[in-house]
Order: sequence, then C-alpha cells, then structure tokens
Amino acid sequence: MPELSDVITALDSLWPRERAEAWDAVGPVCGDPSAPVERVLFAVDPVQAVADEAVALGAGLLVTHHPLYLRGTTSVAADTFKGRVVHTLIREGVALYVAHTNADRADPGVSDALAAALGLRVTGPLVPDPADPAGRRGLGRLCELERPVALREFAALAAARLPATAQGVRVAGDPDRPVRTVAVCGGSGDSLFAEVRAAGVDAYLTADLRHHPVSEAREHAPLALLDAAHWATESPWCAQAAAQLDAVSARAGWHLRTHVSRLVTDPWTTHHTAPRASEGAPN
Ligand SMILES: [Zn+2]
Repeated sequence: MPELSDVITALDSLWPRERAEAWDAVGPVCGDPSAPVERVLFAVDPVQAVADEAVALGAGLLVTHHPLYLRGTTSVAADTFKGRVVHTLIREGVALYVAHTNADRADPGVSDALAAALGLRVTGPLVPDPADPAGRRGLGRLCELERPVALREFAALAAARLPATAQGVRVAGDPDRPVRTVAVCGGSGDSLFAEVRAAGVDAYLTADLRHHPVSEAREHAPLALLDAAHWATESPWCAQAAAQLDAVSARAGWHLRTHVSRLVTDPWTTHHTAPRASEGAPN
C-alpha cells in the first residue's frame, strides 16, 4: 500500500502544479504524508457532503477539481463550512488534494473528458499551451462530430450525455443550424469567445455563460452556444482522472482502489419555465 506522499508524487506528475494559473491554489490541502492510502475518491467540489462520502468510503485521499481555499485563510475553525470540512477530513484521516487549472490544461485534461462524454473527436486545444511542443495541452478543446447534426439534435445529445442537473442545457441559436465543429470548455468559458470566433466553429459548449458575453457573441457571428451546468461540464473529468491514477497504481503494483463521487454538487436545485399557452397554461 503506498503512502500519501507516493500518491501525491504521482498526482503531481499527472497534473504538474507549476502549470496551474498564478491565482490558483492546487496540490495538497491536508493529510499526513506518511499515512497509508488504499482508497481514493475523485469529486468536483470539496463540500461537506463529499467529505462525508469520502469518510463513508474509507478513503484515505479525496482529490477534487475545485480548491477548498482559493485565497488564504487565518482560521480553519469548524465554525465555518470550510473549517468543518477540514476538521472532518483530518479527524477521519482523509487527505485532500486539488488539481484545478493544471488539470484544465493537461493532456488529457478536463475538456478532453467533456468532449469524450459528448462523443466528440478532439482535434486540438482551443487555446494551446505554448510550452507544449506536442500542441496537445491548453485550455478548451476543438472537436468534430462524425457527421453534421442540427443544433437541436446536438443540444439533445449534450443534455442526454452530461450528468443530469436542474439547469439542463441552455441553447442560443437557430435550432436547425448544422453543427459539425464544436469548441468545448469545461467550467466557466465566457473568457474564450475571441478564440472560439477565431477557430470558426459552428458551436461552443461551456458553462456559466452570462448575458453580455452571449449577447455580444451572437451579434458578432451566427455561432451556436450551449450552456450547461458548471459541475456537469467538469464532472466527466473525475472518471478520466481516476483511470489515470489506476494506470499509475497498476504500474507501481499499489492496488489502489479509486472511486468517483456519486453526488451531484451543482448548487442549483430546481428550474422553472413559464408555461406556454399551448401547453395548458391556466386562462
Ligand atoms: Zn470549475
């Protein structure tokens, strides 16, 4: 059975910390480097329910995509929800490790997992990492569908293939518009519109799209936009990351047991739309 420090070395080689954005907070958050690790849980959000899930599993390590503390803190007292997570994890012997923007940029990265979940063929990064001679690392991914489909069909496919959330998939664009090339970006992708336009794709699927960037993008060009829940676009990374650690474990003879969180940690819980007259709205 490996020690936590061995597993952290493996995680650091999959997602080198120095490839994270300067503002990010990645790597180990808590944990005893000499503690043995048998089970590892992968999740998007380090929230209390996920910490409880790790404890229930008997995991010695929880790996999350989102940081628990993005900025510094002067207290981990359990009178805040973050402090309570820290207390739960330390009391129960669960280490926490974060792979965030370094996992976004990796090869394979968060957007590769998203593309695979959607059944798309990746042709390259949307924003290539200039430090990667192979040209495979970077933010977002450019993808192709095997055959063109109408936007309404692609949106239905995305809604069916991504994990279910209250939001579902919001769409902007002519539902009959043919879609063959797609840019995807797991997580908040509304800072990449210029690169998406330059790529000349038919559609862009990401999360957290806001009114003004969407309105302006729609005025610029007939680009179809699909907005899924942030958690749903990053959730496919957990299984991809677990498989990567499984491969390391098999090579090292560790017999680690990896798990993917079963919890939906998208914070939105309900979605209402106004009933249409044709759908039986009361008179
Ligand atoms: Zn995210």
